[in-house]
Amino acid sequence: MKRDQVFEFFRRLAEANPSPTTELESENPYTLLVAVVLSAQATDASVNIATRPLFARIRTPEQMVAFGEDALREAIKTIGLFNTKAKNVIALSQALMAHHNSEVPRTRDELQALPGVGRKTANVVLNTAFGEETFAVDTHVFRVCNRTGLAPGKTVEEVEAKLEKAVPQPFRRDAHHWLILHGRYTCKARLPECWRCPVIDLCRYRPKTLPPEERAKPSDARSGSRASSAARTATGRKPRTPSANRSRSRPSRLP
Ligand code: SF4
Repeated sequence: MKRDQVFEFFRRLAEANPSPTTELESENPYTLLVAVVLSAQATDASVNIATRPLFARIRTPEQMVAFGEDALREAIKTIGLFNTKAKNVIALSQALMAHHNSEVPRTRDELQALPGVGRKTANVVLNTAFGEETFAVDTHVFRVCNRTGLAPGKTVEEVEAKLEKAVPQPFRRDAHHWLILHGRYTCKARLPECWRCPVIDLCRYRPKTLPPEERAKPSDARSGSRASSAARTATGRKPRTPSANRSRSRPSRLP
């Protein structure tokens, strides 16, 4: 994607959502760090359900250590990998007390030295808690960057490096929030909702998904005139053979 297209891409996402932020609920940098650790391979919604009552009582490393691993495991048992996560949260809380005066550190190296904290978690905390221009690449960001051609890469590290280079001001600070939200609600994994996408003309993904009302249903392929009409809507021309008709009716997408 060219420079001016990247600018326009983010300009439109920013226009649609001027103040994006994480959907994880937290009370302070410490609870944000805990929430992000808990969110690995889990949805933000499932983490919020568990942390809402937890963070009503526990907002500091000291309180968490006093709460204890068994109680924490019970409190987060609805979240995937809760055993390992409970261990890590207690260990990272002890490390914060021992080495950081119970404060969340502001450097990537110090964050990544904490139990259960990887590069993505450090990026989210640096960005959301401390306003740094970091680019956390999760599954949504990875997909959107590759599909659209914004920052294609085979690994999350490669995508992150390309975002670092490509994203212009004034969008650098909020870029990863826009990309996550765009991937979560519009450019979805199974069926991107291209028909209502604000960056459809900038995106190189093909074929684009048609609006639901224009998509041919499997039953249409079996019924002559309806199938014919649906396929014409999707492609702009009538299929030449019955097999072409069937294949066009299934993908529900426009080349
Ligand atoms: S046009 Fe479709 S594939 Fe491209 S960004 Fe939008 S939703 Fe995703």
